[in-house]
This record gives sequence, structure tokens and C-alpha cells, in this order.
Amino acid sequence: MTQQFKDTLIFSAIEQEAARQNRTIELIASENFASPAVRAAQGSVLTNKYAEGYPYKRYYGGTEYVDVVEQAAIDRLKELFGAEYANVQPHSGSQANGAVYMAFLKPGDTILGMGLDAGGHLTHGAKVSFSGKMYHSESYGLDPETEMLDYDAIMAQAKEVKPQMIVAGASAYSRAIDFTKFREIADEVGAYLMVDMAHIAGLVAAGLHQNPVGIADVVTSTTHKTLRGPRGGIILSQEKYAKQISSAIFPGSQGGPLEHVIAAKAVAFGEALQPEFKDYAAQVIKNAKAMAEVFNEANNIRVVAGGTDNHLFNLDLMETGLTGKEAQELLDRVSITTNKEALPNETRSPFVTSGIRIGTAAITTRGFDEEASRKVAHLIADALNNAADEAKLKQIKKEAELLVMAHPMP
Ligand code: PLP
Repeated sequence: MTQQFKDTLIFSAIEQEAARQNRTIELIASENFASPAVRAAQGSVLTNKYAEGYPYKRYYGGTEYVDVVEQAAIDRLKELFGAEYANVQPHSGSQANGAVYMAFLKPGDTILGMGLDAGGHLTHGAKVSFSGKMYHSESYGLDPETEMLDYDAIMAQAKEVKPQMIVAGASAYSRAIDFTKFREIADEVGAYLMVDMAHIAGLVAAGLHQNPVGIADVVTSTTHKTLRGPRGGIILSQEKYAKQISSAIFPGSQGGPLEHVIAAKAVAFGEALQPEFKDYAAQVIKNAKAMAEVFNEANNIRVVAGGTDNHLFNLDLMETGLTGKEAQELLDRVSITTNKEALPNETRSPFVTSGIRIGTAAITTRGFDEEASRKVAHLIADALNNAADEAKLKQIKKEAELLVMAHPMP
């Protein structure tokens, strides 16, 4: 027997990543800390199993246990959002969106989605994405004054470009989205309405944001942001679209489902169905509002759209003299993790940008309350305003690490 291969490169990188996650204040709005149960399911023997097809209709033998797992994921997901049909197989949010386009559109059809710099996602029609290459894409922006969605303007644009599908939902929009208004626009122009609720899914599950299920024709999401599950995607819709969506996922765009990830999704949906999850989601919003208030009081850092209704907000850094990239790197140095973010009508490249995005889903999982969140906002403002003061930055880093250590990982 040869000596067992010890992959020290990979396992030491994992250990170091665990330590990094532990000692930094995580504010990336699309991230969260999945529970040990979610991670145990994802790291389980289910990774060994092929199961092409859907529960109880597979192309492989030995699927009696993965059928139980996938059916439970489907049932819990339907219960969570009140959906008639649920597909838990998309490997990611992008895969989910791609399959929906495949199910409802022909190549060359027009998609009307939110522009990248307004806060939309690449898969909502960006020219660099399959969604902007295979389909004709048009994008809506924000009202230049309020930096919020202007439904009258979107209605006018929809009448002009006559899309086959309207996409609502965002990656970096801090205000509530009115799905009923989007429905009216879609009905007016005879378009399908897809809602991508990837960012706000946990808030929707908790009843703290309007639920698009039952309003949109089809709803997609990731499972790893506010919903706090494993990295992955889902699709929800009415029963009448079940067949076309199922076949767009398998065999249309994917092969074998990742049953270990589906098991982790099932565990996360089970967690989100517990009453405590509502408290968690409510605290996420309270923390985001508390942080945004601190920045609203600072005189050279501007909260885009004036505040937040959800788990995130963007900061306009133009008056600090720092780009988004510089701010992200500076905050990394003081153990605060954020990401650079394009502002509405951004003039800099996506690699530089003029803003950063802040989200509270992950720190809330660690038990941060409004007071602790306000402290984080003050540390950020201090760092951004003292970028050249090494002694001050050292002090901020120390305070950030003390604060995060006072909130151990659950
Ligand atoms: N949709 C939205 C609104 C997102 O914010 C994201 C990810 O950031 C996605 C889709 C894509 O998800 P994934 O990274 O799993 O492909």
C-alpha cells in the first residue's frame, strides 16, 4: 500500500481561509456563513452519486436516497416561498438564469434588464455575458435624482423596445423593488416577467420583502446570500411552466445534479423555515439601516439612494478622493472585507469604480446588532478618511479584530 497522498497545499489554504473568515469583518453583500449542518451535507458522500433526471425518474440506479434528499429540498422550497413548482438543480444563479432564458426565449429575442452600473447582474443582459450575446439586450437604469427605480420610465422604455422578457432584481440595489409594478409593465407589452431575487431571497423568505412568487412568471435565486445556504441556484414558477423549465435545466443545460449541494440546500431551506430565521432577517435589515445612518451623518461619504430597505447599500466615495478599488484594498488592510462597486452612471472601469458595496448578512449571522454595526461603520469612515495615517490604520485594524472576535462564528 503506498503512503496516502496528503494535500498540504490545499488543506493549509483552507485552514488559512477559515482563519481569515474568522478574524475579518465580512461585509460582502453576496456572502454569508452557512451553518455547520449545511456544510456537513455539502461535504457528504452524496458528492459520489450520479442522478441525472428528477426524483423518482432517474437515468441511474441506486438513487433511492438522493431521491429523498432532492424531494425534501423541493418540498421545503415550495413551502418557503409558496411556489407551485420548484427546481433545485441549477448549479448557480447564472445557470438558473440561463436555463430560464432557454425555457422562455429564442436566441435573438429581447431581454429588458437592469443595467450593471444601476445594480443589475451580468446575466441580466450585460454584453460580456451569454445573456447579452445570445439575446438582444436592453437595460433600464435609475432615476438620476433619487437613484431609485423609475417605473414610469421603465414602462416607456418597455413600450419602445418591446421585450419578450423583463428581468427585475439586482445585485446592488438598496431599495425595495415593487414587483407588482413590473408585472403591470410586462402585461402592458406582452412580455414574460422574470424576477431574480438572488440577493433578497432570505428577506423574502422571512416576509420582509414583497414575494415575487405568484406575481412573476418565473423567479430565480441563488441560495448562498441572505438565504444562507450553500453556493447554488433555484428556479420557482407556476406549475404550467414546470415541463419547459425542467427540461431547460436537464438535459437542456446541465448534466448530473450536484446532490450533495442539493442536500445542503434542503438543510438551509429547513433552517429558513424555522421562526428564528425571521429574527435573523429582521436583524440583517436593522443592521444595514444602522450603518447607512452613520454614513449619512458623515459629510464626505454618500449613501447611494439615500439609505436602504434591505441588507445592503452602496457608498459613493468621490469626495474622499479614493476610488472603489483603493477603498476596498485599504479596508482589507484593516480586516474589513468589502467589494468595489460601480455607481449609477459610473465613469470609471469595473476594475476601479467610484464606490463600494456593503452588506450585513454575514455579520448578522455572527451576532452583530445595531450598536456593533454602527461601530463597524465608524471604523470604515475613519479608515477612508485617514488613508495615509499608518498609526491610525493600525489602531482601526486592532479595533476591527477585537470587535469581530467578540462575535464568534456560530
Ligand atoms: N443574480 C444576481 C442578482 C446575483 O447577484 C448573482 C450573483 O452575484 C447571480 C445572479 C449569479 O449567481 P452565481 O454567482 O451563483 O452564478
